[in-house]
Amino acid sequence: MIGAGHAGLAASRCLSARSIDHVVLERGEVANSWRRERWDSLRLLTPNWQSRLPGYRYEGADPDGYMTAAEVADFISRFAGLCGAPVRTHTTVTCVRRADQGFHVATTRGDLRCRTVMLASGACNAPSVPSLHQGVPSTIRCFTPFDYRNPGQLPDGGVLVVGASATGVQLADEIHRSGRPVTLSVGEHVRLPRTYRGRDVLWWMDASGVWNQRIDEIDDLTRARRLPSPQLVGTPERATLDLNALSAAGIRIVGRLAAIRDGQALFSGGLRNQFALADLKMERLLDTFDDWARVQRRDAGVAPPERFEPTRVPEASPLKIDLRSGEIRSIVWATGFRPVYDWLDVPVVDSKGHLRHVGGVVDAPGLYALGLPVLRRRKSSFIHGAEDDARELVDHLAGYLAGAKE
Ligand SMILES: Cc1cc2nc3c(=O)[nH]c(=O)nc-3n(C[C@H](O)[C@H](O)[C@H](O)COP(=O)(O)OP(=O)(O)OC[C@H]3O[C@@H](n4cnc5c(N)ncnc54)[C@H](O)[C@@H]3O)c2cc1C
Repeated sequence: MIGAGHAGLAASRCLSARSIDHVVLERGEVANSWRRERWDSLRLLTPNWQSRLPGYRYEGADPDGYMTAAEVADFISRFAGLCGAPVRTHTTVTCVRRADQGFHVATTRGDLRCRTVMLASGACNAPSVPSLHQGVPSTIRCFTPFDYRNPGQLPDGGVLVVGASATGVQLADEIHRSGRPVTLSVGEHVRLPRTYRGRDVLWWMDASGVWNQRIDEIDDLTRARRLPSPQLVGTPERATLDLNALSAAGIRIVGRLAAIRDGQALFSGGLRNQFALADLKMERLLDTFDDWARVQRRDAGVAPPERFEPTRVPEASPLKIDLRSGEIRSIVWATGFRPVYDWLDVPVVDSKGHLRHVGGVVDAPGLYALGLPVLRRRKSSFIHGAEDDARELVDHLAGYLAGAKE
C-alpha cells in the first residue's frame, strides 16, 4: 500500500480482515496531507457525522459541525491506531516497476518485492496551475493552495483569485475579510446551498443515493471525474458561500481567465451562460432530492421545497485587467489539484497524467488504485467514500492472489 491517508488505511483494515500480509508505506506521517498541505482556516465541507471509515465513525459532541484539518489528522490517526495498521512512516516510494510475478518497490528506506501494489497516494498531490501563469508579470506574487496558509502572507493590495470551486470561494472570502480587494475569476462551477429544506445539502446527497451512484449508473464518467468541487464551506453558521454571497460581500466577479498577453489578464465574457448553467444544474439536483423525499414519504421530516435566487450577473465586469498597473498585487491559483505518479515506472499513466483503470483495477495485473475522483462511485474521493471502494478492491485483490497461486 502506498499512502497512509484515510484511503490507504481503510484498505489496510480490509486487508487485515482477510489476513492478507501487507505494509503501508508513507513518505511523511499518517494523514500527512491534512498536516502539511492545507491552509490554516480549512475545515471539511462534509459534516462530522459523515466522517466514517470501516468500523469507525465520528462520535464527538458536534455531529453537524465541520472538522479543522488538525481534527481530521487526529481522526485518521486514531483510526490507524485502532486498526494497528502496519504503517512505515518517513518512507518515500521512489520507484514501482514490474518484477517477476509482482512488483519491485524502491523506497528511501530500502527496496521491497510484492505480489500486488495498491496506490493510495492521493488525488491531490500537487496544485494544478494552467500554463498561462507564465505570462504573469514578475511584480505579482503568486500562491497556490499548497503554499497559501493565511491572508497575512499576501502583500497589501488587490488579489486575483482564479477558480471558483470550493477552494477558490473559501480563499476569496477569507482574503476579502482581511481587507484586501478581491477579484474572483469564475469558470465552470458547481453551485450548492449549504442547507436545503432544513438539512445539510450533503445529507441530501447521502440520503437520496446520489453520492452512492456507481460508475455504471453515470452517463458521462469522464465528465463526472472532471467536475469541479462544489461551492461549499464548513462554518459553524452553516453559511452558503455561492457567488451571490460573495458579490454581496463586495468581491468583484469576472469571467474565466482566458489568457495573459503583454501583462494583460483577459477574461471571457460568458458569465451569464456560466451562471445559468450552474443554476440549472443546481435546480435539477434539488428536483432529484424533492422527488426522492416524495417517493420515500420523507416530506414530513423535512422543511418544504425551496428555490434560490438565480446567480446575479454583475452590471459591469471587466474583460481585461492590466496586471502591471498595481491594481492586482497577488494571484491565488485555485485551479484544482492533480495526482503525481512520477515514481510509477509501469506504463499505466496517459498523456494527461491520468491513471488508466476501471473502477480502481489498474491496467496492469496486480496494480490497484484508491481515492481518485468517482473511482467506483460518486463519493469515492471523500472520506466516507473509501469504505465501499476499499472493500470491493480488496475482494478483487484477494481473488487475484488466489488465482496467481493456482
Ligand atoms: C483542500 C481539500 C479539501 C477537502 N475537503 C474534503 C472534505 O471536506 N471532505 C472529504 O470527505 N474530503 C475532502 N477532500 C478530499 C479528500 O478527502 C482528501 O483529498 C484526502 O486527503 C484524500 O485521502 P487519500 O487517502 O486518498 O489521499 P491523501 O490524504 O493525499 O493520502 C495520500 C498519502 O500518500 C502519501 N504519499 C504520496 N506519494 C507517496 C510516495 N511516493 N511514497 C510514500 N507516500 C506517498 C502522502 O504523503 C499522503 O499521506 C478534500 C481535499 C482537498 C485537497
